[in-house]
Amino acid sequence: MNKNIAVIKGDGIGPEIVTEAMKVLDKVAKKFGHTFNYEQLLMGGCSIDANGVPLTDETIERAKVADAVLMGSIGGDTNTSPWYKLPPDLRPEAGLLKLRKSLGLFANLRPSVLYPELRAACPLREDISAKGFDMVIVRELTGGLYFGKRLTETVNGVTTAVDTLSYNENEIRRAAVKAFEIAMKRRKKVTSVDKANVLDSSRLWRKVINEVAEKYPEVTCEHMLVDNCAMQLVKDPAQFDVMLTENMFGDILSDEASMITGSIGMLASASLNETKFGLYEPSGGSAPDIAGKNVANPIATVLSAAMLLKYSFDMDKEADAVEKAVSEVIAEGYRTGDIMSEGCKRVSCSEMGDLIANKISCPLC
Ligand code: NAD
Repeated sequence: MNKNIAVIKGDGIGPEIVTEAMKVLDKVAKKFGHTFNYEQLLMGGCSIDANGVPLTDETIERAKVADAVLMGSIGGDTNTSPWYKLPPDLRPEAGLLKLRKSLGLFANLRPSVLYPELRAACPLREDISAKGFDMVIVRELTGGLYFGKRLTETVNGVTTAVDTLSYNENEIRRAAVKAFEIAMKRRKKVTSVDKANVLDSSRLWRKVINEVAEKYPEVTCEHMLVDNCAMQLVKDPAQFDVMLTENMFGDILSDEASMITGSIGMLASASLNETKFGLYEPSGGSAPDIAGKNVANPIATVLSAAMLLKYSFDMDKEADAVEKAVSEVIAEGYRTGDIMSEGCKRVSCSEMGDLIANKISCPLC
């Protein structure tokens, strides 16, 4: 297959970690007989330096015509970088929010996986972490409380602030379809999280999820209240395969799920629109404290590239090959500084990329 990938390396460690993910993609292309064409685009601080704005219209148009976008991370040290003396709409993060909106990315996917060899980093009790876990949180990204009407007003000397949580059935349905499609590629279980005992928006959420579930008879669908879900995540995370939830619940639960893996440098993410198009990026930031030192962990970006193969290109075998290569390198004891532990072999960012790329093999070749 011939595919065009827009690449936004970004700021800080972005260029280092994306270079390693491209190294792995190139090896996949070679082993599986594909061609990946890359177009490098600027966004964030580097775009401010080059163009005076964090995101140009041309970058948006170029990203739109690509088959998928692979991104590093953007932004600098928020205390010292001159980018943070600019008005908020000209700062690096404004570029990312505008890009997500322009590309219609309404579903955010965050896998949370505990590798057996990294169990020591997991803050959960040993009998819980021993079972391991491998889940994806699908968070609705463009509706709900963060996008509803808001106001603050003072009447008769009393100040009141109002935020509105609103969803229509179409917004819920398209997020649900994504979650069930993803479950079909995994262990075929969806846990939909809501607060249907209190909120009208959650009651509609539950109704629409049940309608969508009927179209996926192979997938087991269960509903869980958000307060119970927050507890279940630390009590028995192994029970989850695909967790589907609205914007604010997803914001909170996906951070909780990240924390229980214990290592930010391992966490991939994807944001998808209604087509196969998506933007793939590590969950962490641009880590200005370690930028340019070749010590960053590229695995989150490599795993984001694996998600790109799976969800945008339907290259499931290729994605599996990348995930398997990462697991093998971890099992052999290679670690970047952030996940280093006694008895392991410390490697640089580029060495980690080489190790993973060298492990890529095609089961049919
Ligand atoms: P951060 O995630 O960049 O760093 C937090 C800590 O994690 C640091 O100690 C860093 O060294 C470490 N870390 C992060 N990624 C790592 C990796 N791959 N390998 C090894 N260590 C890693 O968060 P921050 O310091 O709060 O933010 C720094 C900048 O990143 C800010 O400008 C922020 O706005 C931006 N940011 C961007 C994104 C994005 O591009 N999507 C997301 C979050 C933060």
